[in-house]
Amino acid sequence: MTNLYSSSSEQIRQIAQKQSLDKDKLEKFLVPENIVEATLPLLKDDGSTIFVKAFRIQHNSNLGPYKGGIRIHAQVSKDEVMALSLWMSLKCAVANLPFGGGKGGIVIDPKTLSEKELERLSKEYAKSMFDVIGAHKDIPAPDVNSNPKIIQWMVDEIIKIAKEKNLPIPENELYATFTGKPIQNHGLTVREESTGMGGVIILLELLKKLEKNPKELSMAVQGFGNVGYHFARIAQKKGFKILAVSDSKGGIIAKNIDAESLDIDLVANCKKEKGYVAGCYCAGGVCDLTKGKVITNEELLGLSVDILVPSALENVINESNMKNVKAKIIVEMANGPVSPEAYEYLSDKGAIIIPDILANSGGVVGSYIEWKQNLENTTYSNDSAFNELDEKLTTAFENVWEKSQNEKIPLRQAALVVGLEKILAKY
Ligand code: NAD
Repeated sequence: MTNLYSSSSEQIRQIAQKQSLDKDKLEKFLVPENIVEATLPLLKDDGSTIFVKAFRIQHNSNLGPYKGGIRIHAQVSKDEVMALSLWMSLKCAVANLPFGGGKGGIVIDPKTLSEKELERLSKEYAKSMFDVIGAHKDIPAPDVNSNPKIIQWMVDEIIKIAKEKNLPIPENELYATFTGKPIQNHGLTVREESTGMGGVIILLELLKKLEKNPKELSMAVQGFGNVGYHFARIAQKKGFKILAVSDSKGGIIAKNIDAESLDIDLVANCKKEKGYVAGCYCAGGVCDLTKGKVITNEELLGLSVDILVPSALENVINESNMKNVKAKIIVEMANGPVSPEAYEYLSDKGAIIIPDILANSGGVVGSYIEWKQNLENTTYSNDSAFNELDEKLTTAFENVWEKSQNEKIPLRQAALVVGLEKILAKY
């Protein structure tokens, strides 16, 4: 089994060495500052109690409190959470946020639990982490299998504990302990779409540098969940031609390369009705047989489109299929969708790959805006949240682009160096 944390550390070491960054400071940075482990007692509906392993990794706080989601999964491991927390430290630094990196994990398949059991487990997690989290210490958020409802249970629990202990923490600061809360309960209205929107903002900045017109570019989007759907929807509004989209059961493609864009809202409505994108190929205006056809995910990755947007899983473009990829621009909206070998191969062939720590950082910027909104005890309008998202991401892109041009290095390497320089300068 690969050790994700050591392979991530090794990748970063190699890049830092090429750029002659301070070795001692780098080694200090790579080691997580705190590893919090807990065994959560979970009272089952039948009256029995089981014990569930959980983690919070607080990776680095040079730039501010730790920030990162809580992953709930039967296979989530300490090693994986450590690696994810390390990437969060870099992502927050690249986005110029006053945050360090963190990540949490709860080792269980939440689909095996009733709603009441999941609520009790979420509250146990918040209780076990009460002393180490907080608006100025560590700010968790949703990740795989966690959602605003789970976050709300956690908020309720920490408010209850703070009251029981008579702690003089204002309520708005307790809300700011978590981001990704429900909108009606101090969440940010645009948090859900901020990752997809952020990806489009960054892609548009790249196209300005390349002097390319979105209206002349075609695109395929793999993954039609939170990130992929919003990315495709907003990209279509900006004039890109979305020729194919997919989910875990396969995808649909427009009839030919000159066809009009798929109508993303129609596809989304159809997916809601049928349960999966590929079920929509013959659904009226979405993509009937005269207008489109079903394709596999592998076929989607090899399409002759200008832009490929992997928005589902890690490592989908790897040594086995990298030679099939024809797109000249790849936007890594998922975390780690292009393996290091494929990244090198495709970059050498002239493809421009916007790395995940830049491309999908709209999510954490949205979280930052939610945190700030809570601390300021106010509610941001959609317009002011979008403006801030735009400003933060445009600056982040500009910094990475400049580094990449000045040092003649690919964007991934440039993003890592920009992040590392900021963090290491604080030692
Ligand atoms: P999601 O669960 O909402 O959507 C995932 C989508 O991928 C679904 O449409 C699913 O059907 C599809 N999928 C699953 N397996 C697939 C396969 N083998 N081939 C093609 N499609 C497949 O998840 P999400 O929140 O959209 O996250 C997607 C990725 O983006 C993840 O890597 C996540 O870590 C990353 N990410 C998400 C956010 C966020 O704000 N949600 C922020 C940063 C990064």
